[in-house]
Amino acid sequence: MKMNIAAMLEYQASDQIIYKAEQAFANSPENRRYAAVQNKIAEIRQAVIKMDKDAVDARREIEKREAQCAEITSELTAGLDFGDEDDLTAVKKHEDVLQEYESTVDRIEKDVNKFLRRLEEIEREVKQASQQLKKCTIDFEQSKAELAKKRTEMQNQLKDEVLKRREIQQKLNREELDLYKKVRKENIRLPILVEYSDGLCRGCGMHVENDLHGKLKESGDIAECPNCRRILYLK
Ligand SMILES: [Zn+2]
Repeated sequence: MKMNIAAMLEYQASDQIIYKAEQAFANSPENRRYAAVQNKIAEIRQAVIKMDKDAVDARREIEKREAQCAEITSELTAGLDFGDEDDLTAVKKHEDVLQEYESTVDRIEKDVNKFLRRLEEIEREVKQASQQLKKCTIDFEQSKAELAKKRTEMQNQLKDEVLKRREIQQKLNREELDLYKKVRKENIRLPILVEYSDGLCRGCGMHVENDLHGKLKESGDIAECPNCRRILYLK
């Protein structure tokens, strides 16, 4: 395949200017800030979901212990028999049962209190998160507006260059442009249309003469660099 090298190089030069500006926009402090605020908001939302789940778990633990308490209380009431109060062994046995009951209830209550404290802690965390979220939402709106301003600025600066690129594009044939765009999509660092001379690819610097098997003979001939996959052309 032969290519209109001069026009294609002109197109690439313009494309490179636009690409550079777009990259600068993507790396701008405005865009970074916008992305950071967005991430922070997502992070807080995730944390709140986790807190809600923890609260549900804590409430379930409390309910479980309350049920346990009710169960052993009814067991105790049903099991107590004060039949013969003169029987000292029986009295001693009742005392032991009661003591055992009280210490179990005590232990359960301690557990319940532990979960109640956890619930209070979660409540505080949720409140804190919602305050953070409020602040982040303001930041988000602000950074969004700043980013939009920056984007308009960039678009205004590039307006002429975009028109120029479009004009050059008219001079190119479909096949050439499609090939360029195909390689461009593969995220190969610009320039992607590079000169082949002295057996070297001027894109990656590799000696590729042997791999090309004489594909590049005349001015305007093109081939793919076997190493970096850029488009090689012969001047
Ligand atoms: Zn190469």
